[in-house]
Parts: sequence; C-alpha cells; structure tokens
Amino acid sequence: MELVVATNNRHKLEELSPLFDLHVLRAAGDAGIDFGHEELETTFSGNSLAKARALWREIRKPVLADDSGLCVDALGGAPGVMSARYGSVGGIDLSSPERNALLLGAMRGIRERGCRFVCCMTLMIDEDRFFVVQETCEGVLLEEGRGGGGFGYDPIVFLPAIGMSVAELPRDLKNKLSHRGRAAARILAVMRTL
Ligand code: IMP
Repeated sequence: MELVVATNNRHKLEELSPLFDLHVLRAAGDAGIDFGHEELETTFSGNSLAKARALWREIRKPVLADDSGLCVDALGGAPGVMSARYGSVGGIDLSSPERNALLLGAMRGIRERGCRFVCCMTLMIDEDRFFVVQETCEGVLLEEGRGGGGFGYDPIVFLPAIGMSVAELPRDLKNKLSHRGRAAARILAVMRTL
C-alpha cells in the first residue's frame, strides 16, 4: 500500500520507512503538500488523529501520522506532548543535548526515575475509516547520557530489560523495541486484514 506520511520531517520518514518495508511511504512534501500542522492537542492520540485528518483532507488517499514523546513519572508525565518543545523560549527550540541536560537537571536528586517513550500512530484510509494505536517503550532516566546512536532523548533513557540506553541499541533492535516500532507492528497487523 502507498501511504503518505503526515510530516515534512525527513528524519521521521527515515525512521518509519524500514518499519513499513513492504509498503511505500512518501513524505507529504514529496506528494506536493507543504504539511505544517501545529500540534495543539493535549494528548498523543489527539495530535496523531488531527495530523492524519488534516493531511487526508488535502490528498484523499491513505495516510499515516504519528505523535510521540517521552513521559517521566516523577514529572507527572512531562515533557509528554511537549517533548519536541521542552525548554523552548519564544519559539526557539533547544538542541537535543541542551534539552536532555535540562530534563536531567529537573530530575536531579529524584530517585523515582521511571519513564516511557510513547507513540500514537494513525492509519487513515478514509475520513470515517481509521485505526489508531498507541504503544510504549518502558525505561528509566539515567543520571547522565550514554551512547551515540539514535536521536532526541535516546542517550538518557536506559532500558533495564536490555541493559543499554536507547542510544546504545543497534538500529535493528531499536526498531523492534521502540514505542514507534511497536506501534508500527500494530498498524501492520491491521493492514494485513484490510
Ligand atoms: P514528534 O512525534 O515529531 O512530535 O516528536 C516528539 C519529540 O519526542 C521528538 O522531537 C523527540 O524529542 C522525542 N522523541 C520521540 N521519539 C523519540 C525517540 O525514539 N527517541 C528519542 N526521542 C524521541
């Protein structure tokens, strides 16, 4: 199936494409659409569905949208849907290392360090026919970053079940274990039944 992805972000397309290797994923930009949907909702599912619907209305073909982030228990689920904008001031975003340092600073001295990556993914076949899944990847916040792979918060999230930070995982293993990989597996299971 050909799916247009509700993003202008090439990095996101590169992460998603190997997860959907039997299908063709195209960025909205490559389908001639300047996709600039603002994430205004307070939940991952609200943002994911809103992005899918906004793009579907423009192209009227099957679309894939996702919204993801990191939720820290001791911070009441923050940064959550604000993950990409955590610490931003006046519309200017921090770099990933700056954002990670800010989060670790907010967590200094706190012993409860449970956290999870969350990914909500929406497959919209038609405006009234869509499938929304949400998956997690459970971790623990480190005291300082480890590993050089991945992106974003990966260096500061440790997976106790594997004994590595997400940034230390080989790419194939991250694809299998990550919130995004797990959500994609659920969407693929739905696609096999269509
Ligand atoms: P969005 O889904 O494009 O809104 O991304 C939200 C933000 O969550 C990203 O900019 C990252 O900061 C963070 N994030 C989402 N997924 C991951 C991941 O797999 N690793 C590290 N950070 C992530």
